[in-house]
Amino acid sequence: MKTKIIITGGTGYIGSHTAVALLESGYEVVLIDNLCNSSINTVGNIYSITGLRPKMEIVDLCSKKECDEVFNKHGDAIGIIHFAALKAVGESVQKPLRYYQNNLTALMNTLDSAVKNKINNFIFSSSATVYGQPEKVPISEQEKTKRPFSPYGNSKKIGEEIMEDLTLVNKELSIISLRYFNPIGAHKSGFLGELPTGTPNNLMPYITQTAIGLRDKLFVFGNDYPTKDGTPIRDYVHVLDLADAHLKALERILNGQNESPMEVFNIGSGKGYSVLDVIYAFERVSGQKLPYEITTRREGDVPELISSADLANEKLGWRATRGLEEMVASAWEWEKKLR
Ligand code: NAD
Ligand code: UDP
Repeated sequence: MKTKIIITGGTGYIGSHTAVALLESGYEVVLIDNLCNSSINTVGNIYSITGLRPKMEIVDLCSKKECDEVFNKHGDAIGIIHFAALKAVGESVQKPLRYYQNNLTALMNTLDSAVKNKINNFIFSSSATVYGQPEKVPISEQEKTKRPFSPYGNSKKIGEEIMEDLTLVNKELSIISLRYFNPIGAHKSGFLGELPTGTPNNLMPYITQTAIGLRDKLFVFGNDYPTKDGTPIRDYVHVLDLADAHLKALERILNGQNESPMEVFNIGSGKGYSVLDVIYAFERVSGQKLPYEITTRREGDVPELISSADLANEKLGWRATRGLEEMVASAWEWEKKLR
């Protein structure tokens, strides 16, 4: 009998890559998603890669009734990886209630169903945004969290607080919150990758959509930051490395190796690259010039975010293995295959 794991937000960008990693490791996988930001075709694409078809449940986790029903049906699962959330930072500033309502209701309903069905192992998608503008880089998990700049980011911080409170009273629960830095890249098969709806907010899809001709040029949001070339520095991590981090985190709690009911790990490469570094890496791997223009800063951007990935290495045995050019090349291959 295979061990059943539920992946919420499972047809999304990171969820689908994680589903592949779990299937390839011998788990039975159930995807739950309302498809508000992903496509049902992802299920077939996961099958094309793995030869295995995950179960798919189209469910809005904000509906308590639908959530209860699907978890009752899959009450024999022993773990949940919770990706389901809305993630557009700018939109969350315009529509704070939509973001708090969706991200926190879906989380609380999922946790409630998990507790009722005694599914005691839970992995949560958090974000480096919970550190706000950190005092220093690299950022370790010891760094104090601050109020994030956006309702999206704050929904992650509040989500962590809710889970912390829950583990105080539900002693059987084991939770790991993974704070991702900047996930980019795509599956090497070309079957899975990031599928932004409308104009991308993030750098990598904006670059590849510009290069393919969907956008005239990339706008670089400011070159007057206190960094080596004036553009902000981020810690980019390949989505395949990220998927592997979920597998390792899951195995840590399934094997009872966690040292407290709620643990937190940074998931980043520990290396920082500026916006111009990413553009130049793209130009090298694609062999084409990228049209770009320096413009004003984007509100809420901080100069530098780099993780200390030491704790994940020590406790999860995880480290990012793929470099910037490999990440950028895979994103470019995905974009070309899409068009
Ligand atoms: P994504 O939008 O591709 O995937 C999220 C999935 O959740 C989508 O398929 C969407 O349809 C689904 N969903 C949203 N609300 C739902 C609901 N109420 N019920 C059921 N399904 C719902 O995003 P992603 O990039 O794969 O991100 C996955 C998780 O990682 C999210 O929680 C996100 O906040 C977090 N995260 C992402 C990044 C990033 O840069 N991609 C960085 C840090 C954290
Ligand atoms: N960025 C940019 N132009 C864009 C999108 C992003 O210059 O069209 C910059 C942004 O200012 C940040 C970096 O690229 O410094 C990464 O931004 P992204 O939105 O991908 O991730 P974030 O770090 O904001 O979560």
